This record gives sequence, C-alpha cells and structure tokens, in this order.
Amino acid sequence: MQEDIIQAEKMKVVSEIAASVAHEVRNPLTSVRGFIQLMSDPVLSERKRKEFSAITLEELDRAEAIISDYLSLAKPQSEKLEPILLGESLTKASQILSSYAHLQNVEIITDVKLPATVYGSKSKFRQAIINIGKNAIEAMPSGGILTLAYTVNEPNRTVTITISDTGIGMNEDQLKRLGAPYYTTKDKGTGLGTMVIFSVIRGMHGKLDVRSKVGAGTTYFITLPLN
Ligand code: ADP
Ligand code: MG
Repeated sequence: MQEDIIQAEKMKVVSEIAASVAHEVRNPLTSVRGFIQLMSDPVLSERKRKEFSAITLEELDRAEAIISDYLSLAKPQSEKLEPILLGESLTKASQILSSYAHLQNVEIITDVKLPATVYGSKSKFRQAIINIGKNAIEAMPSGGILTLAYTVNEPNRTVTITISDTGIGMNEDQLKRLGAPYYTTKDKGTGLGTMVIFSVIRGMHGKLDVRSKVGAGTTYFITLPLN
C-alpha cells in the first residue's frame, strides 16, 4: 500500500515535468516550422532569409537546451531504482561537466572518497547534479571554483552532498523563486534545470537547502537517506 503511494507520487512528479518539457519544446518547434515555410518564398530578400535562418537556429538551440536540462529523465530506463555509489556518481558528473568548466575557466574540486550509497535512479540523480553544476559554472563567467563533496551523518543514516561555487550568488528574492518552473535570469535560460533538481531530490525523499551570497557564491546542500 505504502509502496503504491510512493510510486504514484513519483509518477506524478515525472509526468508534471514531462508535460512541461513537451510544452516548452513545442513552442520553438512551431516557430521553426513557421520560419522554414516563410523561407520557401522564392522572392524573399537575402536579408530576410539570413534573419529567418538566424532565428531558426536560435530556436533550435533553445529546444536543445530544454532537452539537455531534462535529458536523462526522458529515457525510460532511467526509471530503474537501484543503489547509487555516491563517489562514483559525483565523479562521473564532474567528468561530464569538465569541458564546460574548462571553457569558462572553472576549476572543479571533488572530495568523494568516503564510501556512501544512496538509492534511486542513477541517471536522474546524475542529471540533477549536472544541472546544479551547470548553473554553478554559469554563475562564474570570469572563472572560479566548483566544489563537489559530501559528509556522512551516521546517527541519522543520511548523507549531505555540498555543491559550491564562487560565483555571482543570489539575493533573497532570487533564492525564493529558485525551482519555480521557467524562472530564469539568463538570456538563453530555460528555467527548467532547477525544477528537475527539485523533483529528483523530492523523488529520492531528500531535502534541498540552498545558501547564497551576492558576489560571493552559492552552496547547494542535498541531504539524502543512506541506502
Ligand atoms: P536556467 O539555468 O536555464 O536559467 P535553471 O532552472 O537551471 O534555469 O536556473 C534558474 C535560475 O536560478 C538561473 O537563471 C539563475 O538565476 C539561478 N541560479 C541557479 N543556480 C545558481 C547559482 N549556482 N548561482 C547563481 N544563480 C543561480
Ligand atoms: Mg540551468
């Protein structure tokens, strides 16, 4: 009975995200379709053609960004629940982030040697960490340090993962809005990355706490039950 409720709750979270992502990807696709139609006009000026093709590419990039914030959630095999070795998972996430970090002059420090195992979907968990890391890197336009670490709290059988950046930080108001669908402060933002983070952690019965200071940086604290 209890299991059924948990499963239903998870499905609800997943389908909420799926609906929202489908909606967000449909908009750029519709606009791309419209512009391609316009571009097939034989008397279209070269200037207009260039303008339309630039918009088309931008819209496709937007669809790509939305899908990449959501990527692993769209894979059906990501529904598999299993023990997740924390060190291994965070190392993999930091490897995936490394080329992006390098481009932005960000150094990644990982302190992941303690043995600790949590329970959930490996790919969803990794997607959440990648989304946090991506935001952290994007918050450090002139370089900085991204740190991934965790501490085990044996007495209450939990682990707390900390992901910190030395970036621009957020004010009280921005912190409050974090996680709301489509909330973004970026020109090419989706506002879906943090929504995915919140749903994944909620689905793993975890807790997320975010501390931030404008001009100093941000730390995400994720507390999860040990497996
Ligand atoms: P996007 O990255 O596409 O804007 P997200 O949902 O990933 O969408 O993030 C929403 C917003 O939260 C960002 O636009 C940014 O303003 C803020 N944010 C998230 N993480 C950080 C961070 N580490 N430092 C500063 N701002 C952040
Ligand atoms: Mg993001």
